[in-house]
Amino acid sequence: MSILIKNGRVVTASESYIADVYTEGEKIVAIGKNLNYQADKVIDATDRLVFPGGIDPHVHLDMPFMGTYSSDDYETGTRAALHGGTTMVIDFILQTQGDTLHNALKTWQDKSQKAIGDYSYHMAVTDFNEDVAKEVVQMIEEEGISSFKTFMAYKGALMIDDGQMVQLMKVVKKSGGLVTVHATNGDVIDSLIAKNKALGNMSPLYHYLSQPEVTESEASARFADMLHYTDCPGYIVHMTCEGALNAVRKATQRNQKVFVETCTQYLVLDASLYENDFEGAKWVMSPPLREKKDQVALWSGINQGLVQVVGTDHCPFMWEQKKMGKNDFSKIPNGHPAVEHRMELLFSEGVNKGKISLTKYVEVSSTNAAKIFGMYPRKGTIAIGSDADVVIFDPNKEHTISVETHHMNCDYSGYEGMKVTGKTETVILRGKVAIENEDCLLKAGHGEFIKRGKTSKTVI
Ligand SMILES: [Zn+2]
Repeated sequence: MSILIKNGRVVTASESYIADVYTEGEKIVAIGKNLNYQADKVIDATDRLVFPGGIDPHVHLDMPFMGTYSSDDYETGTRAALHGGTTMVIDFILQTQGDTLHNALKTWQDKSQKAIGDYSYHMAVTDFNEDVAKEVVQMIEEEGISSFKTFMAYKGALMIDDGQMVQLMKVVKKSGGLVTVHATNGDVIDSLIAKNKALGNMSPLYHYLSQPEVTESEASARFADMLHYTDCPGYIVHMTCEGALNAVRKATQRNQKVFVETCTQYLVLDASLYENDFEGAKWVMSPPLREKKDQVALWSGINQGLVQVVGTDHCPFMWEQKKMGKNDFSKIPNGHPAVEHRMELLFSEGVNKGKISLTKYVEVSSTNAAKIFGMYPRKGTIAIGSDADVVIFDPNKEHTISVETHHMNCDYSGYEGMKVTGKTETVILRGKVAIENEDCLLKAGHGEFIKRGKTSKTVI
């Protein structure tokens, strides 16, 4: 199969220019003006943007959590991602405390058989000891899984203590991997949850009030200090606030590599949504939505190069599942449906409103994730020899987000009625048309596990 994309504006993390792009098999073969190839399919991309397929490095598909499972599986989740222009996701494997990493890997390999889009995994280390240390090395060297997620919260289920954290960092550093973290102070949060419940404060608003900014800024600073002590590179997932960003700013003044991911919801939604009684459950996630001043700090952080990646922490639950916490906010499953809207929201709110440039948009939605997570230049750019993962995007088309039209397996939208300028039109995944005329043309099982290498030397 060959495709010739004509006359589009090709955008990468560093350039934007009008050109044709020709793909053959799974790869991009030629880029240039007036390319003269006989292709199986020709797409006129006049007045359209042509950029690399989005990479969302933070999703939870079919994940066991709080007594239930997130409602998108690998098929529905990667299909929805493709509809929005995200051709690859990185999911999280959760080690069961007391069990091996390899057993957890097997469980997730079974789940991911039906993926439509490409995927990889971060390995969440929830229990660290000498045997797990050996497995960490095997994951990097043999399985192509080079990033290890840790939790500084959820004691008794997912959290490792600071002693284990430092030991893990030493092993990961030696093997060329990356430690990623959910950086919030679990003990402080647990005590605030208990206090609010004792006072009878049970609505979703108290989910927000039990996780104040300090719980995130303190843990982010502590994580950065442990990275400094072990000389290990690290990555903080779903950063929401100014205080945490300032902790990283300080670390960079010591010439440390602490990468930062924020998520679209923290850039465009704020904590006032928790004031609508149980309706606020739609946005119960951890960390919670923050204030307007934090949005300003995060957009600035993107432009300052302190925030390298915008993901989603996509973790949808049906309304019935959310109602498990009807009378107790601490029982509301955490997460919201988002993977489909990331590219369009970031374009509309970021590029279209003048907050970020077009090249910065490609950088934070695709290229940096590919570099940080060891897939560049196979993924994350439009270049000869790269995978033909291409989005053809109409920057002027206006549309409205709604549960009626989204493709995620979730019966509400956290963005209902939001008007967006810019729409994903055609999506190509490894040289095959995945999305055209709002239809997904690829079937379950098309998605490929992408073996990852070490963090690219261009960012570390
Ligand atoms: Zn997450």
